[in-house]
Amino acid sequence: MPETALVIAAHPDDGDFGCAGYVCQLVAKGWTVDFLVCTNGAKGTEDRTMTRGRLISLRREEQREACRRLGVREVHFLDHEDGELVYDRALLEQVVRCIREVRPHTVLTHDPTDIIIRDSFINHPDHRATGAAALDAVYPTARDHLNFPEHLAEGLEPHKVREVLLWNTNHPNVDIDITAQVDAKIHALSAHATQFGNQEDFAAFSRERWRSDDGRYLEHFRRIELGF
Ligand SMILES: [Zn+2]
Repeated sequence: MPETALVIAAHPDDGDFGCAGYVCQLVAKGWTVDFLVCTNGAKGTEDRTMTRGRLISLRREEQREACRRLGVREVHFLDHEDGELVYDRALLEQVVRCIREVRPHTVLTHDPTDIIIRDSFINHPDHRATGAAALDAVYPTARDHLNFPEHLAEGLEPHKVREVLLWNTNHPNVDIDITAQVDAKIHALSAHATQFGNQEDFAAFSRERWRSDDGRYLEHFRRIELGF
């Protein structure tokens, strides 16, 4: 039965890198997929002529366009400052609110651990804050009506997410074969024009880097099934 999924990402383009192939598969199965982007994307350009305000609006529109290409229903933005995201009560409330609104069966997000990708890289602090807030929102906060009880007055009921998929994890326990979706994933990522200057280089580089030894393209996740 088609369900709903919510991708919770720190920056514009993180969700596309993390799970665009799997999102395409879910959309093809009739699932509804929304994105929640926690920061405003006001960093990450080498263009000295770019202003902060213009970059924010460009990156927002790039994420919307990438999501259109993937068949995502809606992108929600929290607009925290890029590079300065802090996991606090206010962020938790915003993520819980979005979960209670969207009511996803599945949440896809960053693994919040410090060191990632088979212990080979430092996880960006915004990614850690986002992943930690998403996990705490799923369990226990969004489930219990006594957490952020003001939501009830707005008609937002508690909600139980049934499955979590973490990308860039040291402990993948599921591989999704996205060979048939890799072009769509690159097409979505290409919408982030401020991030990837030469689109042909980017496509060729990605295709090479993401290919497994057996020629397939995979997305790896740590999957947590919430049985109760
Ligand atoms: Zn990021």
